[in-house]
Amino acid sequence: MKKCEQMYEGKAKKVFATDNADYCIVSYKDDATAFNGLKKGTITGKGVINNRMSNFLMKKLSDEAGIPTHFVEELSERDTLVKKVKIVPLEVIVRNIAAGSFSKRFGVPEGTNLNCPTIEFCYKDDELGDPMVNEYHILACGWATREDVDTITDYAFRVNDYLKKFFLERGVELVDFKLEFGKTPDGTIVLADEISPDTCRFWDAKTHEKLDKDRFRRDLGHVEDAYQEMMKRVFGEN
Ligand code: UDP
Repeated sequence: MKKCEQMYEGKAKKVFATDNADYCIVSYKDDATAFNGLKKGTITGKGVINNRMSNFLMKKLSDEAGIPTHFVEELSERDTLVKKVKIVPLEVIVRNIAAGSFSKRFGVPEGTNLNCPTIEFCYKDDELGDPMVNEYHILACGWATREDVDTITDYAFRVNDYLKKFFLERGVELVDFKLEFGKTPDGTIVLADEISPDTCRFWDAKTHEKLDKDRFRRDLGHVEDAYQEMMKRVFGEN
């Protein structure tokens, strides 16, 4: 499929149309932002890592956990062919261990194991700062239907079960992560966006060293090293 005009440029990815209306091409950048775009920077090599890792994990989730995804084909180091979907305007956050905004909001110290995984929905709107919303808000405002919310919740916890085990086998604790879902023209909900160190919190299971974007957000240094290390954990040394 041919890469056509740019449809959209986000903080970490560009999206291009193709010569087939059912597909688009996402192109991963090295640009990094945090705090709703207030902090900006570059993480060299991040686009390649996020592209490859996200595609690998989505393929596994589809093949081994039965989660439908937007992934079609990796075209190059940074470019991937995906199904064109209408993004459900929600950030779906699943947590196993307290961290970040959860710790701040509820006064639960970072690193506290949660009794059970939790899910949160945030309404995707940069101007509003992606406010946390509940299921009634979602239905009342028409951001998704009851059925869609149930499907998304089921998929999100299944993704968590699969990835938690996958990463633990590689010496990494999956602290929390953010998913986005989209709807294909026939109304199917599919996992979209990306799964990467930009969107997940990864801690080394032994040392609890942070191996994700928090190194950038919190100026902890060795940001590139952390992304490279996660690449090794996922794909092995070679
Ligand atoms: N997250 C994300 N994009 C966002 C907000 C959060 O990918 O716009 C991810 C983040 O990397 C973390 C999880 O969602 O793995 C939970 O983030 P949290 O709500 O704690 O927000 P933060 O502390 O990152 O602002």
